[in-house]
Amino acid sequence: MLNSLLHLFYPNLCITCNNSLVGNEKHLCLGCRLQLPETNFHLEKENQVEKTFWGRIPVERAFAFLYFNQAGLTQQLLHQLKYKGNEELADFLGVIYGQKLIQTIETNHIDGIIAVPLHVSKLRKRGYNQSLAFANGLSKSLKLTNYSNVISRKTATQTQTKKTRIERWQNVTSIFSVTEPEKLENKHILLVDDVITTGATLESCAKAIKDHCNCLLSVASIAYVN
Ligand SMILES: [Zn+2]
Repeated sequence: MLNSLLHLFYPNLCITCNNSLVGNEKHLCLGCRLQLPETNFHLEKENQVEKTFWGRIPVERAFAFLYFNQAGLTQQLLHQLKYKGNEELADFLGVIYGQKLIQTIETNHIDGIIAVPLHVSKLRKRGYNQSLAFANGLSKSLKLTNYSNVISRKTATQTQTKKTRIERWQNVTSIFSVTEPEKLENKHILLVDDVITTGATLESCAKAIKDHCNCLLSVASIAYVN
């Protein structure tokens, strides 16, 4: 009753087309949901995201929910996540993507999930980590243990000037630190980021994890820029 009264005064609108949401629709109307540019990479072995990591880090599977295209639906969604603080939407996207991923056999073998951490300064500015909110949604659908707190992002990169070339390289590649790596030992972990472009952040994060423990990694993101 209260809900429908509230709805009368503050109607729920689709975040992309502004039409009123009806029935069980959340965040997006059915029309917009059907128009999402899904990659379906989870159904395709040796897909574009997997190829991105070839020769860089060993990943079991890699997939992204949506293609990113300028001025498209994905950009509108990411704008909501980054600038409107829409944490619920990030979680929701994780839930609906997880419902699709569960249909592939390989996801049964995944034990846990880790979201790529944000810089503390960015976290303060944005208020939340959208990769973590997306990972929370995924873990609800895929029933995964969330190990996101075993990895952190070092706050300040030390000054580069007094370092040798090799030290500088090490400084950039080890921006992540892993605490309690024993928790990940012999597990298959799904590493989650918001957007994959070059894959450099995920590569660096994956290397930090692989340096500390013997585990398998797969990779997932909300969007893929091709
Ligand atoms: Zn809509």
